[in-house]
Amino acid sequence: MPRFFIQARPVDGFLAIEGEDAHHISRVLRMKPGDEVTLCDSAGADFDCIIEDASPSLVRCRVRGEFASAGEPSAFITLFMALPKADKMEFIIQKSVELGASRIVPFLSARCVSRPNAAALRKKTERWQRIAAEAAKQCGRGLVPQVCETIPFSEAVRQAAESDTALFFYECERDAPLRGAIGGRELASVSVTIGPEGGFALEEAEQARAGGLQSVSLGKRILRCETAPLAALAAILYESGNF
Ligand code: SAM
Repeated sequence: MPRFFIQARPVDGFLAIEGEDAHHISRVLRMKPGDEVTLCDSAGADFDCIIEDASPSLVRCRVRGEFASAGEPSAFITLFMALPKADKMEFIIQKSVELGASRIVPFLSARCVSRPNAAALRKKTERWQRIAAEAAKQCGRGLVPQVCETIPFSEAVRQAAESDTALFFYECERDAPLRGAIGGRELASVSVTIGPEGGFALEEAEQARAGGLQSVSLGKRILRCETAPLAALAAILYESGNF
């Protein structure tokens, strides 16, 4: 069943869709009165609806039932991702939304090669947010994960440490397997911090540990910067019973 995000609550048992989504429903999907659609309020509620009338500017839906969004994982996972080269970030964002990331925070660390200026970053962030919204719709999330402004490494460490479980994925870590860090734990709020193609500098790893992040390993193999977040997220979803 098609899913759309709305920013409203039902009024007298009805919900309205306007703008691009209304046009998409009526003109592209050619949906008509009597068809079923799911609307998500981005705050964890899904509404099963029946279309009452559909035009390119407004689609009016009668709410048949309200349910907790089944697509939201039990853990709130924030991915702190060092800016990678080229358009890898688009791939990372799309897959991370499918794998349960609820907030994505790009950051710049010492070995980031890609260093766009403020104007270019603003445009990229807008595109990344669109990719997150499309991925959320496609995979049935109950909210659209926020893609934040790009921040410096030190600010990323400060924010990542605010999570109950703050994981710093360090390619030189040899003594702390991921399983030991998350196995058997209540994973409510988790942060995942991943470096760029060139990895983390030693002093960054020391700064992260000093800042309260737990340095963990993804095993003896070095994963690409676009593989590592997906492996980390999948392990967290598995361990928290979301797979
Ligand atoms: N240039 C580094 C090297 O050759 O050792 C590799 C960096 S890796 C491509 C990019 C990021 O993925 C790392 O900074 C880390 O966050 C994560 N990563 C990759 N493999 C990992 C592993 N085995 N354990 C922990 N983190 C890993």
